[in-house]
Amino acid sequence: MRGPDVPAKALDARALAALAANPGCSRRAILDGAGVDKAWLATALGAPSGFGQSQFALTRGNAFEARVKADGGAELLRLAHAHLDPGAEPPSGAALPDLTAHGPQGRTARTALALREATRGAGGWTLLDHPMLALDVAGSLAFVEPDAVVVHPDGGWSVVEIKSFPMVDGSADPSKVGAAARQAAVYVLALEDVASRLDPAPRVRHRVLLVCPKDFSNLPAGRAVDVRKQRAVTARQLARLTRVEEIAGALPEGTCFAPDRPAEELTAAVEAVPATYAPECLSTCELAFHCRERARAAGAVTRLGRPLRAELGGLATVEEVLAAARGESGDPADPAVVALRRAARLRAEALAAAREVATCP
Ligand code: SF4
Repeated sequence: MRGPDVPAKALDARALAALAANPGCSRRAILDGAGVDKAWLATALGAPSGFGQSQFALTRGNAFEARVKADGGAELLRLAHAHLDPGAEPPSGAALPDLTAHGPQGRTARTALALREATRGAGGWTLLDHPMLALDVAGSLAFVEPDAVVVHPDGGWSVVEIKSFPMVDGSADPSKVGAAARQAAVYVLALEDVASRLDPAPRVRHRVLLVCPKDFSNLPAGRAVDVRKQRAVTARQLARLTRVEEIAGALPEGTCFAPDRPAEELTAAVEAVPATYAPECLSTCELAFHCRERARAAGAVTRLGRPLRAELGGLATVEEVLAAARGESGDPADPAVVALRRAARLRAEALAAAREVATCP
């Protein structure tokens, strides 16, 4: 579907967390499942999103991560000990297994082997730098790469997320911490999959280590983040995703998102897949501007936000909502219709009262 000779765009944990945040969107599910580069597609559709990190932010993030992992990860392990496992023996050094292998499958197998060996020989600390993990997502395998995974002296596994946003006096921007927690939850799920194949299964800890620059410096600061809630939500949402084959089976024959197709053809291909746009898409999906335009043109109430959408029940467009409020359509027993008619009545009364006041001599 992405076209012949077009390399697949790999799904990362950030994309998986976003996919899980909107499990009802078949459009995103099929494009991600087919490995389509959505940023490129959005540009081809004339609605580039400007989504993603700037080159400057990427370079700064990479430099900070290198600093955190310098000297065999000594500082990172010190933070892991202090924030995740203060009762354990302090790390005086750590095993750093070589995880290089050919291709994502090879790296995933190498990571699983390193985790198994580290767990069997537990008693000290092991640091896995950029391990590769796999997760089944709607029938296709997605490879994800945490910044690091630490194996504790008791054999437990912890995810480490290194971010370049600052931690001031021990706390950071809650929305950024929340996004990092959702991303880490994907890694925890993938790690649990590896752990489930070992006997006995090691404990995958649900408190992850978040490492950020301290007070705008480039010194690292750590904080434990409990991702139990994000893990549960992500697992539930990923399980709800429609299988990619089912979505593909419902599309017109020959639907293709290849970069060399004319814009009209690409637009038709994208529009052939149902989407559930919500304002949250603006910060999570490259196609957001395109989908927002379409939702606006169709008068879809989803663009007003999920809470309002949920309250309107079966009324899917602004036109339907207004018709129901005016009493022209809608089931009079439907609580949403009852509420809309009452709101319309109150509005009419308020306007009539305002007019009376205005015309009062
Ligand atoms: S922007 Fe479009 S494709 Fe992306 S998740 Fe939202 S509705 Fe789906």
